[in-house]
Order: sequence, then structure tokens, then C-alpha cells
Amino acid sequence: MSVRVHKLAKELGLTSKDLIERLRKLKVDVKGHMSALDDATAEIVRHELEDQMKSPGQKPVLKEPKAKKTLKTLKVHMPLSVKEFSLRLGVKPSELIMRLMSKGHLANINQNLQEDIVRGIAEEYGYNIEKPPSIEEEILEEIRSKEEEGKNVIRPPVVTFMGHVDHGKTSLLDYIRKSNVVKKEKGGITQHIGAYQVKLAKGAVTFLDTPGHEAFTAMRARGANATDVVVLIVAADDGIMPQTIEAIDHSRAAGVPIVVAVNKCDLASANVDKVKKQLSQHDLMSEDWGGKTITIPVSAKTGEGIGNLLEMLLLEAELLELEANPDAHARGIVIEGKLSGGRGVVSTLLVKNGTLRVGDVILSGLHYGRIKAMVDDKGEKIEEAPPSTPVEVLGLSGVPQAGDEFFEVKDEKKAKTLSSLKQTQEKEELLAGKTSRISLDQLYDSIKKGILKELKIILKGDVVGSIEALERSLEGLSTKEISLKVIHSAVGNITESDIMLAIASNALVMGFHVKMEPKAQTTSEKEKVDVRLYNIIYEAIADTKAAMEGMLEPITKDIFQGRAEVRQVFRVSKVGTIAGSYVLKGKIPRNAKARLLRNKKVIFEGKISSLKHFKDDIKEARENFECGIGLQGHDDIKQGDIVEVYIEEKTTRRL
Ligand code: GDP
Repeated sequence: MSVRVHKLAKELGLTSKDLIERLRKLKVDVKGHMSALDDATAEIVRHELEDQMKSPGQKPVLKEPKAKKTLKTLKVHMPLSVKEFSLRLGVKPSELIMRLMSKGHLANINQNLQEDIVRGIAEEYGYNIEKPPSIEEEILEEIRSKEEEGKNVIRPPVVTFMGHVDHGKTSLLDYIRKSNVVKKEKGGITQHIGAYQVKLAKGAVTFLDTPGHEAFTAMRARGANATDVVVLIVAADDGIMPQTIEAIDHSRAAGVPIVVAVNKCDLASANVDKVKKQLSQHDLMSEDWGGKTITIPVSAKTGEGIGNLLEMLLLEAELLELEANPDAHARGIVIEGKLSGGRGVVSTLLVKNGTLRVGDVILSGLHYGRIKAMVDDKGEKIEEAPPSTPVEVLGLSGVPQAGDEFFEVKDEKKAKTLSSLKQTQEKEELLAGKTSRISLDQLYDSIKKGILKELKIILKGDVVGSIEALERSLEGLSTKEISLKVIHSAVGNITESDIMLAIASNALVMGFHVKMEPKAQTTSEKEKVDVRLYNIIYEAIADTKAAMEGMLEPITKDIFQGRAEVRQVFRVSKVGTIAGSYVLKGKIPRNAKARLLRNKKVIFEGKISSLKHFKDDIKEARENFECGIGLQGHDDIKQGDIVEVYIEEKTTRRL
């Protein structure tokens, strides 16, 4: 329902023009006498104008609410609009709007209020604001409580293959997949859905189909770690190579245990012992050499050792006590999401806990939906998927991102509300450029607040010698409050994989005599990863030390821009006092800061609120030109005063 302006005017005995004028004063924006006001706004306007007309010329007086001694509790969901707040407080919206105005907050009836404002006002009315759990918290609580019911059972391990290029990751994945497909199932053809599961006599193992640490870390960078065990593939004829080391560092940064498969053992040039020796230098001492690392010789060509590898993976899973509760609400991780022509959004999900069923409503990131159909890795339609099962599902409202988590939500309405809430949140965060990445500039702050106990660094350099020297020196800077740890160091330029590792592990990246690869540059800028490039070892150490001591905090310096003399003072109604000035030296930029000097004493310091040349707004007034300067919130300006203008420059302090 709504009320037209001309009708309301008639009702109040005013002309439309007069009413529109009064509405503007009440900050109610209307255009023309045919426009309409919603009922609630019309009600406020009636109330407000009737009061004004009863006592013309008098400003309505705001009665002080009777604050009660003990505060009562008012439960409200944020965000809260003026309308809802007034209802909850039991006061008229117009009274609330005026109370807000008296505190300098302009708000219309449908506007949402900030939490601190709500708290302040509520207190005046004798209420203490209590926020009931958000929908997200409610859903998580529901999931938690369901997880506590029922019994945990052993679940299959989820495995990712990593290693240097051409060492046989894909061949091994393919061999395992093919040798475990029962022939009658669709003639042995398997469906590539991003992951698959093999069933053995003693249990099952789930393999993620995208091998390599890039995919592994990219997923982790999105916040989820799907992998329980990493199988590090090392070719027996080639040994440990740079990407093998990267894979080791990426797995360790994620805290995921490593099982080693020494591949290509069928080759005459295979030397398993040499590989084991190299592994021991990277803290991966083989079990048969007295170490803790399961190391298995295999061949993707002949299939030798693969059965043994699978058994060992089951053993490792047992040691890790991987358990899940099949009775809980389903939750897990998105492995892949894509848009398929005829079928809509197709997502591969890995169930980590609970059982996912056709008909369940799930929520993932910004998207939600009811599962319409579910297919397993053999292309078979299935009705339910227990923990560690990869499935392809149809029914989500949008394409989810790999690495996002998904949750089963019992109430579809809740899922829908949360999904739209998250979309708004994401937009706001995007606009605010919010990130919580570690950077040298904020290091001191993070240490001081106790947020950070360990500074992780990824180090890339041109030669092994200088990397080792730098690594030692950096780790040597560790103090009681913060320890420095190089989680990955290698020779070569900074790659995108380094940046992903930095995101996933909240680390910063240092390069010594190296460059950033273009893709790494783009990703680091987008994700705001702190990358520092140095050519002198001393500088890298000095910078880090300074950052730890808070000496890198930026210092602000005033840079002089110009000086103007006030030659005439104008008072402009609604705007305030304007200094009609003449620029004696330099320039006066509109967005600069100003000091007003009288007899060489500073009597005002603050922002320039307006800058004009005659009637026109200008960005800058130059030397020997006239201009009108307004100073924000300051009217005491006299002829002969001097306006000095400067900009603040933030610089980083160096030791
Ligand atoms: P990826 O880059 O790690 O995925 O390696 P691929 O699986 O693509 O294998 C690289 C090459 O090594 C291919 O030509 C494979 O045929 C070969 N290869 C993989 N595993 C074996 C193996 O066990 N024995 C032999 N002789 N060759 C292998």
C-alpha cells in the first residue's frame, strides 16, 4: 500500500508543492506530486507534520526516554532497519529517526543501522542488545550436534599423487583405476569426475584425479584440505628433482603425511637405493632403512608393487585413525564445478562426513540447491554417498568453486537466506578490498596482538649458496614472541605455485636475485600476497628485522603544496565561510590538507571542504590565481590569514 503525495497534501491541508518542500526537510526524497510514499513513511510524515503545524515555527522537542536502571534484554538479528528497530523498541519510527538525527545519524525508515548505533540507542531506552546466533551459526550448530549423535566408523583415506613431471603420476592413477574396474561395469569404461574410489578386500581408497602440488595447494588456498595422504612419486631412474622437493614442501606446509612410491622400477636404469638415499636427505628416511617413511617400489607399466602400495595406504589410514560419522549431516569439499550444456551445473563433491542423499539440500559458498541426481565414478546412478565417496551431483544454483566446502542444510529456506547473505558479504568484502594476509608492514602489529607466533617465508633465489645463507640468517632472527620459518626454498623465479603456497599457508614470499613470473605477479596482486624482491642479502635481513621491531610502520611526512593569502571573506548561507584567496606560491589542490595561520600561529588544521574559481568547483588553484577556499567545519577566517596546504605522504621507515 502507498499514498500519493497530492492526496496526502490534501489530507493535511497543504499544497503538493508545500508538502514536497517539507518532505525534503525531513530527508524524504520524492519527485513530483504524483509520486507515492509507502504506508510507514506516510505515517511518520503525518505524525511529524501534524506536530509541526500545531505549533508552527517551533522545532519538535525530543523527549528524553526514561532509561531504566536495569537493562532488559532485546534479541535482534543484525542488520536491523529503522522500521524493525522502532517496532522492537515500541516507539514510533518518527521518534526513532529524530533520536538518530540528534546523534548525527541520518537514516530513513528502511535503512539498516550499524550495530554500535543500535546498541547505543537501545541502552537509552533501557535495553541491552543480544544477538541470537546468525543463520550460519545455527546451521553449523545443527551440524555439530548431529555429529555428536551416532557412531564414528573408519572411512577410506583420500589420496593425492604428487611429484616431478613425467615421473608417472598420471600413469599410476590410470593403472589403479583400470585394474580395479570390474569388467561388466560399462565394459570397463570409467567416468572422469575428478576423483575415484577403489575397493579392496580390506577397505577402500579414494584418489583425487588431479595430480600435482599446484592443484593440491590451489584447493588449500581456498580453505579446504581434501587430502589425507600424499603419495610422492619419484622415478627410479631420475631421482629427486626440483618439483619433487616442491611437492614435499607443499605437503609438509599442509601437515599431510607422505607415502613414497618409487616408480618405473621395471627400467634397467632404475636405482631404488639411490632414490632412498636422496629421500633421507629430505627427512624421508625409508622404513627398511630405520626411518618412518613408507617407501614402495612400483611400476605403472607392469603393475608391480601397486597392490602393495594400496595396502600400505590402508595401513596409513588406520594409523591416522581416519573416522567419520555416516549418520551426521553431510559435509565435504567441492572437487570440481562446471556448467554443462544440457545438464546445468555439474559438481563433483567429496563427502568427508555424514551421508549425502538425493533430495538433500546443500549449501556451498554462494550457491545452494536440492540434489536432483547423483552419479558415482563408474557412471552409475546412486541414491546415497557415505564418507570419502566422490560423487557428481546436479542441482546447485550456481557453479561452486573447487576447494569450497559444502554442507547439508535441513531447511531450504535457511540455505537460500544464507546464500544471499553470503553474496552480499562477498560483494562488500570485495569493495572493501578486505584481506587478512600477512605482510611485513603489519608484522609488528600481528606480533603485538599475539595473532602471529610464526612467520612463514617462501624463499626463492638464483643460487643454492645464497638461499641457504639467507634461510639461516632469517630463521636466526627468531625471538621468543615469533619464530621465523622458511617453509619452502628453491632456485628459480617466483612462480604461481609459490604464490598459492603463500596464500594457503599465510606466508610471505622473498626473492633474491630473481624475478616474478607474470602469472605469479597477477595472482599476488589480486590476492594481496606480500612479495619482496632483494638484490642484497643484508637488505632482506634488515627489512625483516625492522618489521619485527615495528620499525617498518609507515611514518607520515607533510609535503608542502602551496600558500594562499585570504583577501576577502564571504559568508555563504548553508555552506559557511569561504576564504577568497590569492595563491602566493605553489598550488592549492582540492584534496589536500590545510593549515590556517594568523600572525604565524596555526588556528586550524584539517581538510579543505570546497575549492572554487568564481562559481565553478575546481580540482586545483595555481600560483597567482584567485580561488575560494572552504575549510571543513571551520568558519573563523579573517582577511590577512594565510592558508598553507600540504599532502601527507606515508613512507616506510628503514633501519
Ligand atoms: P606425470 O607427468 O608424472 O603424470 O607422468 P606420466 O604418467 O605422464 O608418465 C610420463 C612418462 O613415463 C610416460 O611416457 C609414461 O609412459 C612413462 N611411465 C610412467 N610410469 C612408468 C613406469 O612405471 N615404467 C616405465 N617404463 N615408464 C613409465
